[in-house]
Amino acid sequence: MSQPPALHSLVAGTPVLDGPLLTIRSPFDGSISGTVTQVTRAHTEAAIAAAVGFRATPTRYQRSEILEKTRTALEARREEFARTISSEAGLALREARYEVGRTVDVLRFAAMESLRDDGQIFSCDISAQGKARKIFTTREPLRCAVAITPFNHPLNQVAHKVGPAIAAGTPIILKPSEKTPLVALKFAELLYAAGLPGSMLSVLLGPTAEVAELLVTHPQVDVVAFTGSVPVGKRIAATAGYKKLVLELGGNDPLIILDDADLDLAVTLAAEGSYRNSGQRCTAVKRILVQDGIAPEFTRRLVERTREYLCGNPMEEATKVGTVIDEASAQNLEAIVREAVSAGAKVLIGGERRGALLQPTVIADVPRDARMVVCESFGPLAPIVTVRDLDDALAVANSTVYGLSSGVVTRNLEHALKAIRTLRCGTVNINEVPGFRVESSPFGGIGDSGLGIKEGVIEAIKAYSYVKTFSLPW
Ligand code: NAP
Repeated sequence: MSQPPALHSLVAGTPVLDGPLLTIRSPFDGSISGTVTQVTRAHTEAAIAAAVGFRATPTRYQRSEILEKTRTALEARREEFARTISSEAGLALREARYEVGRTVDVLRFAAMESLRDDGQIFSCDISAQGKARKIFTTREPLRCAVAITPFNHPLNQVAHKVGPAIAAGTPIILKPSEKTPLVALKFAELLYAAGLPGSMLSVLLGPTAEVAELLVTHPQVDVVAFTGSVPVGKRIAATAGYKKLVLELGGNDPLIILDDADLDLAVTLAAEGSYRNSGQRCTAVKRILVQDGIAPEFTRRLVERTREYLCGNPMEEATKVGTVIDEASAQNLEAIVREAVSAGAKVLIGGERRGALLQPTVIADVPRDARMVVCESFGPLAPIVTVRDLDDALAVANSTVYGLSSGVVTRNLEHALKAIRTLRCGTVNINEVPGFRVESSPFGGIGDSGLGIKEGVIEAIKAYSYVKTFSLPW
């Protein structure tokens, strides 16, 4: 089979043609998905200089048009982009198509927000200390933003950073995951073709010390927006120096199922939350906390439902669960399951691994101190922990270092309200999976999941700009 042509890292819109090649392989069968040229320290510095030196900020209308044209172009190439995601990330094609749809939404909302007036007016003759003036606010672009993104949503995570930066008029340098750079580079090409000035976007792949770490520590970078693991996020927090940080880190989200729940709904949410995107969502259900009276019936139904999540070749239409990102990750998940089993848990279905494919796995009787309950396990695992009542569930839910999102399945409004008040995390979804959101709503966690600064198109535009206040006599 002929190999796809090489894609290139992009310094201010110019492809780097001659760097060392990075080969991207399908996690499913090892076939070559593509190759990418990598850059050096000098390229990273050139990208920063181009961003910082850029002055010709497009108007709001032009920014909106660029985002809209990119959306239209992406819609026209939906299937091609979805296949690129499946090929490099191993995600089932149906998941990749869903991700492209979400990215279309990000672009639509970012284009809309580009046009929205964000200023405020304050009359100053409102107190004894005041006078007849008015204060106005306006948002100004930053000099240079940096975005560092993970592998698990290789297109949507990129769009959630690049789209709002463009809407804000801020030049951005993207460092995508080296496991999934192909769709990010294709996305950048759509943006340039839609009229984005080259200096407003660079996409760099290369050695961590020469690219990611240089970007994070560089004094002319105003904001680093990072989505990824807790250890890397904390390292960035420790080394970035005096600049804005948006950190979207790991999660360990609970789905709490109370004995007044609609059990069919609970089973659907547990399965969807645990297995969608091969369980590789920061907001995937990582702990199912079920009230003990309904646990046997819930567990029986979840095992039945799990049979419907066909795991296999990501490119086949029938496949619901593709691979995790690589074989090492699948082996790590296997080890986490083995550990829980040796502590008394039982695997009721799944658990078999072939290469990077791990069958969706229901694990019952999981002890509360098992690694899969305490830490983030990034794969299609559904660990069931029984709880006595709502208070017990809330205590277990709040017992980890994470605080990203959560779901509660109940028909009782009092229980729902108490959960919303008590759960220490960024989002509480009643009768939904923890991951439910729209692309413009505020999103992000606390604790080890993040610093509480939200993303989502509207909040992210704030992160990529600063408020200037000016006043006039009135
Ligand atoms: P990761 O290993 O932390 O990598 C994320 C990005 O950081 C990659 O681009 C990686 O580059 C880069 N990186 C690695 N070392 C770095 C350094 N020293 N300085 C700066 N950047 C560095 O995360 P991942 O395994 O790709 O993604 C999975 C994690 O992301 C999970 O923990 C998941 O929960 C989290 N996540 C969180 C959210 C959220 O919104 N809270 C959303 C999605 C995912 P290379 O690829 O070149 O190593």
